[in-house]
Amino acid sequence: MILEIVTYGHPALRSKGKPVEKIDEHIRQLAEDMLDTMYENDGVGLAAQQVGLPLQMCVIDVSPVRDRPSTLWIDGKKVPIKKHMPLVLINPTIELLGESESGPEGCLSFPGISAEIARPSSVRVHAQDIEGRTISFEAAGLLSRAVQHEYDHLQGVLFIDRMTPEDRKALEPEIEKLRSSVT
Ligand code: ZN
Repeated sequence: MILEIVTYGHPALRSKGKPVEKIDEHIRQLAEDMLDTMYENDGVGLAAQQVGLPLQMCVIDVSPVRDRPSTLWIDGKKVPIKKHMPLVLINPTIELLGESESGPEGCLSFPGISAEIARPSSVRVHAQDIEGRTISFEAAGLLSRAVQHEYDHLQGVLFIDRMTPEDRKALEPEIEKLRSSVT
C-alpha cells in the first residue's frame, strides 16, 4: 500500500522515533508499505517519520541508482549491493567513519529542494532486520549517505539542518513556503 508522505512542517518530522519493541505483523506490513511508498516516489530511502510515524525504522534501496556508486562490507568483506537491497533497518545505531565529503541530497519530505551536504564518507551500522535478526555492515558512497540521512530522520534531524549557512539562506523562501503549506 502506498502511504502518504508528510512534508516539512509536519510535527512527526521533528520527532525522535520510539524504539520498535516488537517486530510483529504490524511492523512487517509497515516496512512493506514504506518500501512501496519509497519506490513509488523514486526515493532511495524513507524513514517512518516521513509517513507520520515517529519510530526507529527506515527503509533504503540504492540499487536503482547507476551514476552514484555505493560500497557495502559485511564482516569486513565487500559484497554485491544488489543482493542486500532493500534494507529495512529497525532500531539502528551508527558510527561515523572517514573524512567528510560533500554530495547532492534531496528528501521526499522536501519536494523540489536539494543541496550539497557534507557527511563522513563511510558508516558502520548495527540494526535489526524485519525478522528481528541483528545485522551489521559498513557502507561507503551513496549508501553511506542514505543511511546517515535516514538515521538523522529517526532522531528528528533534517537535511536542512546540515546545509551550509549560505545554501540554507538561499533556500529559506522555498523551505518556508513548504512549512507554511502544512495545515
Ligand atoms: Zn529525507
